[in-house]
Amino acid sequence: MSDFLQTPIEFLKGVGQARADLLKKELNIFTFEDLLYFYPYRHIDRTRFYKISELQDDLPYIQLRGKFTDFRTEKLNRGQRLTGSFTDGTGHLEIVWFQGAKWVKELIKPQTEYILFGKPAIFNGKFNMVHPSVDLYNDENIKMLSALMPMYNTTEKMKQRNFESKSILKLLHNLLKDERLIIPENLPDKLISKENMLARGKAIHAIHFPGSAAELTQATERLKFEELFFLQIRILRYKVQRGKLHNGICFEHIGELFNTFYEKHLPFNLTEAQKRVIREIRGDMKSGVQMNRLLQGDVGSGKTIVALLCMLIAIDNNYQATLMAPTEILAQQHFHNLQELLSGLPVSIRLLTGNTSSKDRKKMLQDLESGSLNILIGTHALIENAVQYKNLGLVIIDEQHRFGVEQRSRLWQKNEKPPHVLVMTATPIPRTLAMTVYGDLDVSVIDELPAGRKPIKTIHRFESGRLAVFEFMKQELSKGRQIYIVYPLIAESEKMDYMNLQDGFESVSRAFPLPQYKVSIVHGKMKPADKDFEMARFVKGETNIMVATTVIEVGVNVPNASVMIIESAERFGLSQLHQLRGRVGRGAEQSYCILMTGNKLGNEAKTRIKTMEQSNDGFYISEVDLKLRGPGDLEGTQQSGLLDLKLADLKTDDQILQRARNSASKLLGEDAGFSQPENLPVKLWLSKQQRHAKVWSRIS
Ligand code: ADP
Ligand code: MG
Repeated sequence: MSDFLQTPIEFLKGVGQARADLLKKELNIFTFEDLLYFYPYRHIDRTRFYKISELQDDLPYIQLRGKFTDFRTEKLNRGQRLTGSFTDGTGHLEIVWFQGAKWVKELIKPQTEYILFGKPAIFNGKFNMVHPSVDLYNDENIKMLSALMPMYNTTEKMKQRNFESKSILKLLHNLLKDERLIIPENLPDKLISKENMLARGKAIHAIHFPGSAAELTQATERLKFEELFFLQIRILRYKVQRGKLHNGICFEHIGELFNTFYEKHLPFNLTEAQKRVIREIRGDMKSGVQMNRLLQGDVGSGKTIVALLCMLIAIDNNYQATLMAPTEILAQQHFHNLQELLSGLPVSIRLLTGNTSSKDRKKMLQDLESGSLNILIGTHALIENAVQYKNLGLVIIDEQHRFGVEQRSRLWQKNEKPPHVLVMTATPIPRTLAMTVYGDLDVSVIDELPAGRKPIKTIHRFESGRLAVFEFMKQELSKGRQIYIVYPLIAESEKMDYMNLQDGFESVSRAFPLPQYKVSIVHGKMKPADKDFEMARFVKGETNIMVATTVIEVGVNVPNASVMIIESAERFGLSQLHQLRGRVGRGAEQSYCILMTGNKLGNEAKTRIKTMEQSNDGFYISEVDLKLRGPGDLEGTQQSGLLDLKLADLKTDDQILQRARNSASKLLGEDAGFSQPENLPVKLWLSKQQRHAKVWSRIS
């Protein structure tokens, strides 16, 4: 039965060699089965026949039924125009062709009924219709056309050869009515009835040729569900395998270090959310199964202290811990921050980045291998092969979006007992992405800011308001506050962007002259040492204004900074804007974010600016971001298979995704090997997908 599905496409009625070649080359359709899964991009409602007497202004595409009475050809400046008169007994309508006149005159017969489909327009005070689609009025066509008609994508090359949406429709029509066609189910019956879904065969019929709009919706939902279900099975299997394969490190107790720090060194009371999250992490780390947890917390929610407390638990259990940051600046800041928090405690902590001198590096690696070094902070340099730990127990990845599920699962496989992994992110991730890109992770959320924080006020200003902005800056500076001014820097326009940054720096320096004001500048082209020096001056409060590119985007923490000015804000993405804004509002004072833009703003830019003005909630902002940009632009999606989704759309299908995830998780919990007879369809489908994937990897 499945052999029939694998029949090469050239054997389908209506497909000759030429069309078969086009289908393969242009649409990747090689077999009957491939054609079945070539879903239409939309349907046009052709359930209704209009009468010519009903025609009026502004009708959409409509359908008429009638006969042609006569044709006449007129010469035009270029080419010719063929006009036919069409009647259905209620009136006459002119049908116009500018091309293919010869073909039309040959094919259209008098005294024969046709179905016309097109958009009526008014020309010289009369209705006409240009280049409608014309089909014989017979039983087969009525059935095929007088319904929700599927529209299929075709390519330019196909169109040139008159191989259009309608041709594909006809092929599918032939295929779907073939008695030998059996479309196997791939979900357990129980699940289908529980979710109240269409059977697979029915859904595939209906997604091409739905009997009604409701049926189309049902079919689409069923097929989206299965798509997301198998994606979830794939993702969640990593989790199951991890749980089974690795007997994880067990941090049995909380010891001296943790307790001393908690009681004597903690500079503030933890928020309830911080406490809860630490309990969740602690639960993982003593479970005997490797932890893989995502810690989400909006900017400023206090993830660093959580990381530190977890690292202390590792050390209390005689393990080492490492913290990886995406940039040099961040790694440094973490290092200094943690070093300070740990002062007076017997913990050795070091910083390893690309800039560490080889002498320091050597010593560090020795201490790491001997075990005398407890905590290593750094950038990507930490995962180089040369870096060997004596007994690494906990890896914390901060602000990290760059690893997909598969990559991450490979990261620490070289260890016999893999360390616990905590991924921290301040870019709140829309639910759908949390369930997919990070779908194999458990999730903890810090959903509470430390007490006393005032929401940041966000204001949009045009260039014309710059002087007022300068005035405002002076007021804030006079209160002793510090200010960031951030310029965009994008690879494609790098040269211009650097010029703008320099110009901006100069005009700010003029408006805020020495000795009263001191202005720093930091950007990626500076020597790391200079950059660090300037950054450090600002952190220490030695300079008042920091002009920078987005190098300061993540993590940097200067509680005294209360104003963030973002230049050309229309050029930033939403999550970036939110990240930048998160650099202020870290102290007790009222903070401000000023979005400077040009006068002309596109619709999307307007939405972004407005969203920023209206909300400080990172989760809400991330949802809007996903809706605006789609998942393709969000980091991590490339590796996750999300972009191969045919029907499902992460922007809109989060409910189906949630259901699919629940079902997949339940099934894996009950029968991870799919050995029960009722789960056989799932097993067969997965092995088929795997075979497919192998064939493809060999081809490409
Ligand atoms: P993020 O989650 O963005 O990494 P940080 O860990 O940098 O946030 O914390 C932001 C600021 O809030 C830091 O100055 C930190 O010391 C402070 N902080 C963290 N937790 C608390 C708390 N429970 N109470 C008061 N301040 C806190
Ligand atoms: Mg942070």
